[in-house]
Amino acid sequence: MKVKVISALVLTAVATLLVGRCTSLGRKAQFVMGGALVDVGYGLQDGLESYDFEHHHDITPDQVWEEMLQHNRLSSGMRSRFPRTPRHPLVALLVCMDARIDTNELVGDTRRYYYVIRTAGSVMSEREVEMLELAVANGVKLVVLTTHSDCAAEKAAASPELRARFPALGRAVDERERRVDEFLARPAIAAATERGALAVKRIAIETLTDGLVER
Ligand SMILES: [Zn+2]
Repeated sequence: MKVKVISALVLTAVATLLVGRCTSLGRKAQFVMGGALVDVGYGLQDGLESYDFEHHHDITPDQVWEEMLQHNRLSSGMRSRFPRTPRHPLVALLVCMDARIDTNELVGDTRRYYYVIRTAGSVMSEREVEMLELAVANGVKLVVLTTHSDCAAEKAAASPELRARFPALGRAVDERERRVDEFLARPAIAAATERGALAVKRIAIETLTDGLVER
């Protein structure tokens, strides 16, 4: 059954590729089909536990490193045949480091059109603030500052017991809004926003569904 579905998808993809670039509808079909095939690719790999690093319980750090290099050789070999777009991203995302949020799945980003900054609790330090301004200087037109539901960093900041154990994390979450205000007040950011060259969105991510809600 799985083979039939994959075969049908591949045949449809080839047909879409042949006629896709002629019309805008065809190009959209090609884009959607590409995303479907990426999902099929993830699905094919999901069950292959023998490719996980944990397949030998007594694996050593050096063996893990060697296996990671093998994965990289396989992956980068393909990438050198199919190079990515040379264009600069137009969007920069700030997202919590929570592993349940996959930014590629969040926006279907298979073409690497997004700058992504991941931090604990989506909190910017001075470095991230400057990095985002650099991204804007390089052509970014939309900055999306996100938070998400069921955030462990927010929970730690809200719990007296956990705050005592992770004081820096608690302070960081307390500073999140101030860092956003600092970013928005930077002269280059304020000027770009004022002249309509930049938009900054505040978004809440529903962690389990990847849904986006404007705050
Ligand atoms: Zn979080």
